[in-house]
Amino acid sequence: MLTDYHTHLRPDDTAATAEEFFTERNVVRYVDAAAARGIGDLGFSEHVYRFRQALEIWSHPFWEENATDDLDAYCEFVERMKAAGHPVKLGLEVDFVPGREDAIRALIEERPWDYVIGSVHFIADRAVDHEGYDAWRDSDPDSVWSEYFATLGAAAGSGLFDIVAHPDLVKVWGRGRPGPSRPLGDFYALAIEGIARSDVAIEVSTAGLRKPVGEIYPSRELLELCLEVGCPVALSSDAHVPEDLGFGYDSARDYLRDAGVTEIAVFRGRRRERAPLG
Ligand SMILES: [Zn+2]
Ligand SMILES: [Zn+2]
Repeated sequence: MLTDYHTHLRPDDTAATAEEFFTERNVVRYVDAAAARGIGDLGFSEHVYRFRQALEIWSHPFWEENATDDLDAYCEFVERMKAAGHPVKLGLEVDFVPGREDAIRALIEERPWDYVIGSVHFIADRAVDHEGYDAWRDSDPDSVWSEYFATLGAAAGSGLFDIVAHPDLVKVWGRGRPGPSRPLGDFYALAIEGIARSDVAIEVSTAGLRKPVGEIYPSRELLELCLEVGCPVALSSDAHVPEDLGFGYDSARDYLRDAGVTEIAVFRGRRRERAPLG
């Protein structure tokens, strides 16, 4: 089995509207691309901040600018695609906002997800992966890395999510940002307690291969720490166009097998099972 659960039906810009991309024709493009690449389980996980309901969680200017769509219309759309026989699953990528756990829980509850992915893009009000709100500006790299992994651990430990996304996203810029001065394991340690305490799957994402860092998320060292505490692995590409579905999966498969991973997590209705890695 190969999965691709962390995917988006459209690029990350406000010009990519729901009207244009939440269509059966677009879904068929994804379904066909997944089938051609041997991906047996495909799901969509739109960014929570593209939906008006997200403003009940956070009112960051970036969210205010992006929150134009209706979350229930998205859920109904994907459910309609399922009912029409398209082999797709309903997910959501939700930014963890510390202190807003109740609001996040309220948004997740009562909606028919197959899985919910938690991610950390922001630390306080600045982003590790968005130049417009650059977390590195006037900050020392050790603080950025510490805050990032502390927030990731809190996200994992919150119990809100089924999968924790791109676990070391903080490395996204590669040499484009100054690295931390201490060994990376010092920073990973800040997240591992939260990851161990929860029953969350860790995402292995090939998105990093398409970014300046040019590496899979997470690093081998962080992956091994997660495996040691019993985390299942969820495999995804974070594609925003059908052409990127299953991107770099040959590398990912080698990477996982080399780390001793023989099973991956599959989800339905927020219940998790393990399937042999295909
Ligand atoms: Zn993300
Ligand atoms: Zn994503």
